[in-house]
Order: sequence, then C-alpha cells, then structure tokens
Amino acid sequence: MDIKEIFENLDYGTAPEDAKQAQNWLDEQGRKFGHFINGEFTKPSKLFTSNNPANGNELAKISNGTKQDVNIAVKAANEAFPKWSALSGFERAKYLYAIARLIQKNARLFAVLETLDNGKPIRESRDADIPLTIRHFYHHAGWAQHLTKEFPEQVPYGVCGQIIPWNFPLLMLAWKIAPALAAGNCVVLKPAEYTPLTALLFAQICVAAGLPKGVVNIVTGDGTTGACIVEHDDIDKIAFTGSTKVGKIIRKATAGTGKGLSLELGGKSPFIVFEDADIDSAIEGVVDAIWFNQGEVCCAGSRLLVQESIEQKFLKKLKVRMDKLRVGSPLDKSIDIGAIVDIAQVKNIQSLLEKGKEAGGNFYESKGKLPNQGHYIKPTLISNVSPSHPLVQEEIFGPILVAMSFRNPDEAIALANNSIFGLAASVWSENLNLALDIVPRLKAGVIWVNCATQFDASVGFGGYKQSGFGREGGAEGMSAYLKPAFEKKLKPQILEKSQSAKKTEASPISTIDKTAKMFIGGKQVRGDSGYSLDVKNTSGQNIAQVCAGNRKDIRNAVEAARKGLSWGDKTAHLRAQIIYYLAENLDYRKDEFATRISQSTGASATKAKREVELSIE
Ligand code: NAP
Ligand code: MG
Repeated sequence: MDIKEIFENLDYGTAPEDAKQAQNWLDEQGRKFGHFINGEFTKPSKLFTSNNPANGNELAKISNGTKQDVNIAVKAANEAFPKWSALSGFERAKYLYAIARLIQKNARLFAVLETLDNGKPIRESRDADIPLTIRHFYHHAGWAQHLTKEFPEQVPYGVCGQIIPWNFPLLMLAWKIAPALAAGNCVVLKPAEYTPLTALLFAQICVAAGLPKGVVNIVTGDGTTGACIVEHDDIDKIAFTGSTKVGKIIRKATAGTGKGLSLELGGKSPFIVFEDADIDSAIEGVVDAIWFNQGEVCCAGSRLLVQESIEQKFLKKLKVRMDKLRVGSPLDKSIDIGAIVDIAQVKNIQSLLEKGKEAGGNFYESKGKLPNQGHYIKPTLISNVSPSHPLVQEEIFGPILVAMSFRNPDEAIALANNSIFGLAASVWSENLNLALDIVPRLKAGVIWVNCATQFDASVGFGGYKQSGFGREGGAEGMSAYLKPAFEKKLKPQILEKSQSAKKTEASPISTIDKTAKMFIGGKQVRGDSGYSLDVKNTSGQNIAQVCAGNRKDIRNAVEAARKGLSWGDKTAHLRAQIIYYLAENLDYRKDEFATRISQSTGASATKAKREVELSIE
C-alpha cells in the first residue's frame, strides 16, 4: 500500500454528540405527547410514533389531531387574539425576546432533539437550524417594536393556521410563528408527522416565557389534521410550507373563503457555473447547495449547469470531492450527510431514480460506505441527460444532483428558467458584469452570487411560479402577516347585497349593440368567436354585454403579456409614474366607475364611490 492508499483507507473514527440530555427529556415526558392548546398539554390520544431515521428506533408517541382538537385550538386562539393584538409592540417584543433567549439557553437540547427526530447532521442542526431559529425570534422582536411606525394603517389577520414540513422542523416553526406573533396574530401550528418533537419542546418554552395562553397552539398530526386547519371557518389566514402538490390542494380549498394565504413550496433550483468561476469555491458551493441536509432542502441547487468549456474538468473534480463526503450517523460531529427522514422518503427518491434511469443518463454514486442500519442514500451525480429528462424536471428532495452544460449566457438562462419552479438560483462567475446581467433574467425568488444556501432573518425568502408566493423574513415577511386596516370594513361592503340595491333602476340595454370589447396588447379587440355574454345586475336584469373570450383570445392575451414583460425592466420610478397617471385618470372618472359598480352589484352610491376611492388610493 502506498502512502496515498493508506490515507484513503484511514478510519478516522467517530466523534458522537452525547444524546443523553435529549433522551432524558423524552423520558421525563413519558415519551407520550398530547397537543399544546391554550397553554397546556392535552391528554395524549390516537397515538402514532415519531422515529429516529438513523436507526429506525421509536422516539416518542404523538397524538394525531382530530377535527375536534383543531376546533378547540382555534377557539383558544380566537379568544386570546383581542388581548394579544391590543398589547403594544413593545410588550409583544418582550415575549419574543424571552423566547429567543430561552431557545438559546437550551440550544444544545434543541439541536440534539432535532437531529434525533429528523436525521440531519448535528453539525447542521447545531450550527444552522438552531442559531437561525434564535436569530429569527430576536429579529422579529425588533419588528414588533417598530410595527406602528413601519406598517401604519396595517392590522393583524387574527388567527393564522400554519402548516410546516419536516426538513427544517424548528426553523420552519420560527419562520411561521415569529412574524405572526410580532404582527399581533395568534396561531395554530401543525408540525410535520415525521418531526414534531422540537415543536413540542418549543411549546414548553412558550410556557416558560410566560406567553399568554392561546397565543400559540400546536396540534400534531398528519395531513388530515392539516386539512382540518385549512378548512376551519374561524381561521383568518393560512401559511403553508410544503410540497407543490399539497399547496395546490390548499389554494383550491381556501379560494373564495376570504382567508389570507401564503405558500412556500417546492423547487428545482439551478446552480450555474461560468467558465471564469473560481472552480474550487464553486465545487464547495455545490456541496453546500445539494448535499446540505441530505438534499432535503426546498431551495437545493439540484440542477447543475456548467459552461461547456469547463464541463469535463468540473465534473471530474466534483466526483473526487463526492468521494470524500462522509455519510453516517447524524450524531457524529464529523459526518457530512445524515439519514433520510423516513423510509417512505427513501422509497420516493429511489422510485424517482428508477424512473429516471429508464430515460438514460450517466449515474455516479459517491464511493464512501453507508451505515449498516438506518435510512441512507449515497450522494449521486447524474450527467448526460436532456433538459426534458424527468430527473431534471421533478423535485427529488434527496442527495441527487443532475448536471447539464450550456454554451453561452443566453443558453444558461433558457435552461435555468426551463422549470415549473422558481424558488432559488446560484450564479458563479468572477466577472461582476456577467453576474449582474444574469441575475435579473433568472425567474427565481432568491438568487445567490458566488455562494449558495445563505439565509438571514432580515432577508425575504420565497418563490415564483409553482414554488409559491409570499415571503418569509425581513419587511416582506412581516407584511405577509398584516393586512390593510380598511379591509375589515370593506368586507361587508363587497358581500352585502342591500335591500335598497334591489330596487335600484338598472339602465336598460340600448337597442344599438354596445358589446364591450376586450383589451389585449394595448388595444380594444373583438372576441374571436363573435359570441357575447349578458352582464346582469343583482335583480337579474341585463345591463350590458361583453365578449365571450375563447382559447384563441386567451392565447393572444398571454402572448401580448409575454411581450409586455419588458415592463419589469423599466425603472421603478417610471413604473410608479405610469401607475400614478392611471390613478389620476381613475380619479377624474370616479363617478362613472361608481355608477357602474352600483348598477352591477347593487351597492349604494356612497359605498360604490368609497370602493373607487380605495382603488385610487
Ligand atoms: P408535504 O407533504 O406537502 O407536507 C407539508 C405539511 O403539510 C406536513 O405537515 C403535512 O402533514 C401537511 N399536509 C399533508 N397533506 C395535507 C393536506 N391535504 N392539507 C393540509 N396539510 C397537509 O411536504 P413535505 O413532504 O413534508 O415537505 C417537503 C416539501 O416541502 C418539498 O416539496 C419542499 O420543497 C417543500 N419545502 C418548501 C420550503 C419553502 O420555503 N419553499 C421549505 C421547506 C420545504 P404530514 O407531515 O402528516 O404529511
Ligand atoms: Mg422523526
């Protein structure tokens, strides 16, 4: 054996973190948990287990929340809301500071418990999940204090239903609870079925911080518990983080209910390396982008796009680096990749890989060994695939990287944007001009230059396209938990069909055909079909006719909107001036608009006028 081989085969041993404190905490709770409602834990019932994915052992039994449990939690939150929202921002900030400090004091317990329940490396829970969680509460304590100054005329929603996934259990809880509380809302949160433990420890922190009862309620359970939260009539806003599939279900379920909604969904983010990039840094960037948290990261850089001129060299170096990644016990302080959260997720990943293999491509698995027990998957690199390959298009949510090449910046942009998702992107180049040209053309909510997976509580995070909408973090994240003060008053105005309205005389249809045209591409156009539809007032009388648009009209409108995309390139100042001009015109013709609103909805003249005035504002 030469010296190189000796080093390669050296067994470095392990450096396990002691799990005794976390195991003792579980023992003290009897390894059985109820829900946390109105400041207390309920009696455990309808139990399911939460397991340690590193060895398959059961950690605790958890209650599966029923409709009745959700009802009680929502009632408690509604009862707590008037007092909590009436506190001054300064008062609410004190609770958020206290929570932050208590998590900080118990950081080690939280980190080990998170690693036990989720399977992520202790290095990551200790150095990323928990510190970011703490920072999130500190940061939002600041927002609570500045609320009235920074968000005048804004009010909290009321009760927020919050549903989170298993990949960053405590951090996602912080992203949801900290801004909601800072804004004056009360919450009912459901952690993921696989990873409820740190949320339950957090419930104890709320008690220790003296948080008023009912402000935070935690109901554990599966998807059906989540659905009960989504469908509850007395919840004012739903904030969801999870898969695009469930996000779509929630969007349909909340449509037309008047509930606020924010969705943080899946992704398939591009990691773009130009030929002039610092290659060694970019290789480390790939490791952070796709092998952080076993690749179970919504914004994982799972599509590697490398400029053709350096493709071979880059992939060769990447394979060498992959072979050095250590996959193993999550509690070992010296491992890079831990366990996959559950055997079901392992099977999801494997079945996607099998499906992908049928579509061709070169598959490279890292050389390192896997532990004998537990749920693990080797880091994998797939190359030589077409952009339509299923593994390029679908979110895998595991340690699997797909690589493609591009010839020039335009091709890189086209490949990067060829996705239903738009969560994040990472651009690598030593040429600042090139990077600044690329960044605004990428359709992604968050874009990193010469780095990846960077987070801070003060920076908004969220998606585009099927990656969702709404932002978490910073001022944008705060505004997701606030709404204009007038909305409460507006609701009845829009919904109410007053008696007097029914009596309002509707203008008779003129004998001359006055079918209103459509507005496409900056001009008025007739519908393709030539058919029209009646517009009726609340008494059922026809008051006008409009074109019945068909597929061709929609196609033309979408094409025109695409051409109009350069609107986004105009300066914000110019856009503001044009919008201001529109408002001026609307103001000039406000009586005309108000009359039409009265005629078609039956609203009184005063209400209709107020509605127009609000639009102008
Ligand atoms: P998921 O299956 O959508 O589940 C997310 C949460 O929703 C879980 O608590 C789940 O309960 C619950 N749920 C399931 N069905 C529901 C329904 N019909 N109504 C209401 N709630 C329901 O997602 P996941 O597999 O846990 O997490 C992975 C996904 O989250 C990935 O797609 C990832 O990209 C995304 N993610 C996005 C972000 C972001 O910020 N954009 C961050 C992290 C993760 P159970 O636990 O019982 O299934
Ligand atoms: Mg678990």
